[in-house]
Amino acid sequence: MQSTVAKRIRFDGVGLHSGAPVRMEVLPAPVNSGITFLRSDIEADATDMRDALIPARWDAVVPSQLCTLIRNDDGVELSTIEHIMAALAGCGIGNAVITVDGPEVPILDGSAAPFVDAILAAGLRRQDGPTRALKILKPVELVTDNARARLEPSDTMEIDFHIDFADPAIGVQDKHLVMANGAFVRELSNCRTFCRKADVDYMRENGLALGGTFENAVVVDGDAVLSPGGLRHDDEPVRHKMLDALGDLYLAGAPILGRYVGEKAGHAVTNKLLRKLFDTPGAWAFVTVDAATAARLPGAGVSPADLAVCA
Ligand SMILES: [Zn+2]
Repeated sequence: MQSTVAKRIRFDGVGLHSGAPVRMEVLPAPVNSGITFLRSDIEADATDMRDALIPARWDAVVPSQLCTLIRNDDGVELSTIEHIMAALAGCGIGNAVITVDGPEVPILDGSAAPFVDAILAAGLRRQDGPTRALKILKPVELVTDNARARLEPSDTMEIDFHIDFADPAIGVQDKHLVMANGAFVRELSNCRTFCRKADVDYMRENGLALGGTFENAVVVDGDAVLSPGGLRHDDEPVRHKMLDALGDLYLAGAPILGRYVGEKAGHAVTNKLLRKLFDTPGAWAFVTVDAATAARLPGAGVSPADLAVCA
């Protein structure tokens, strides 16, 4: 069956790029309504006649290198939605309204763990409607100059990721994970965004990443990890890329039954892959999942104990 959050959940933080304070609330939503974001600052402004609702959907994504940015038909935008989307996917939340009082989701600790922690603490409410999934029927691949992403058939959701960075502190990392039985929460949820010191300096000079710290991002310089306390996992960077992929793929509108393979892929590449998938007749189908399949979805059987394993 479908699920929503059992009660309202509030997050207070700052936007990664603006550095400005932001409040976000995750609210229960009706069966079959999906995930919707609401810019509460736009809604509260009586002089602004624009629609404040932005659907969490692949076709609302606007190309952006640094994060996943969505925009509605009235030009109302919200950025950095990928980590809360990953938390919702990983906890099996299919319906929610998420209000945000500014243009960015709060970055919190740079991972999805604070979202997962609060969602699991609030609890899930089962709803009277069957769960749908997006089944991959034929492989679809997207290749760019320096990245590759692919979706192919599988009975469960799997993610394969490969990264290759010049900085020895990251280097080459590969990971494969079957996203069932709380695997996302146990293995990926607390992995933080990462970046190179030179990129941080460049972004700061251009008025970006003002809310970024050495705590909410893993900052590397050559073979050194500059963030205090070092890495949360030896391969935290590739795990974070998988977290991002799960969040970006959840913009399909349902959990995916298929295998995602990413090589140096980022938000823009994953979104282009989804667009290519939906443009390819016969490559996909929305299906109602049976009990055995539902038990293999990323959110099935997840509990707060899974998060404790990740910490
Ligand atoms: Zn990320």
